[in-house]
Amino acid sequence: MPTKPPLRVVLCAPRGFCAGVVRAIEVVETALKLYGPPVYVRHEIVHNKHVVDALKAKGVVFIREVDEAPAGNAPVVFSAHGVAKSVPERAAARNLFTIDATCPLVTKVHREAQAHFKRGRKIVLVGHPGHPEVVGTMGQLPEGAVTLVATIGEVASLPFSPDEPLAYVTQTTLSVDDTREIVEALKSRYPQAAAPPVEDICYATTNRQEAVKRAAAQVEAFIVVGAANSSNSQRLREVAEREGCCIALLVASATDIEWARLEGIRSLGVSAGASAPEVLVEDILDRLAERFALQVETLTTATETMAFPLPRALREGATA
Ligand code: SF4
Repeated sequence: MPTKPPLRVVLCAPRGFCAGVVRAIEVVETALKLYGPPVYVRHEIVHNKHVVDALKAKGVVFIREVDEAPAGNAPVVFSAHGVAKSVPERAAARNLFTIDATCPLVTKVHREAQAHFKRGRKIVLVGHPGHPEVVGTMGQLPEGAVTLVATIGEVASLPFSPDEPLAYVTQTTLSVDDTREIVEALKSRYPQAAAPPVEDICYATTNRQEAVKRAAAQVEAFIVVGAANSSNSQRLREVAEREGCCIALLVASATDIEWARLEGIRSLGVSAGASAPEVLVEDILDRLAERFALQVETLTTATETMAFPLPRALREGATA
């Protein structure tokens, strides 16, 4: 049997599931236990096919809009990304039983935007157009109250006058470095713009990016496990690339790895986005071990203890 080439693997910690994702999945699983299938979930509960497929197998039905849920008592769950106000309103108009799995850190951003609006400020939201979290945050306020910017160039073309009352909030899963630059441009153009009391980019996004940054500086190539539509996973891949890994792959699972691109490498960083289960990372390590003689080390840059309680209705139901 030919000798396998050696490969040093730097495994980032923290990686994978964040407290918001753990809670969202627990919300759906608890609803299944308490009320039985079917449980309807509007959009992917979190951006991960593995998680979505596992829930489908347990009797979860994923829908695009609440209008697709039949009348009756079956629960309709809103995803971790949050929803526009019109969504629970439409569900209430049909007397649907809804459960909100929005991550509390996204809800915090919704509340900030609402508070600024009450104080008469126009709101600039830094985020990616079309992302469900952005749609949900913009939908907390009447049309025109929130202006979305995604780049420094868009800050330059904002239509506000220099003394207009303004505030900014951000999507929770952005690149820490890019956002800093956009916010600096915004503050330099509008020094009066009120800032979030605490950073809107969440702890999980920040910690995972920091770990990837530190690991990427030591390795030739990087694998981030996560879905292509997962914002925080995409950002991790970009961080690795920027830190000098010319091979920085985002893969949904081991089957997506382009092995030819890893030929000849001696060191590899591995991380996972906040919605990617650890089982996918383990599977990738197994696949790597078939081709390389692995020497795995963990690079820990933060210890996470964050946990969010379930929505009250489910807590009470579970206790009963
Ligand atoms: S990535 Fe952050 S904001 Fe999004 S669900 Fe996880 S903890 Fe919440």
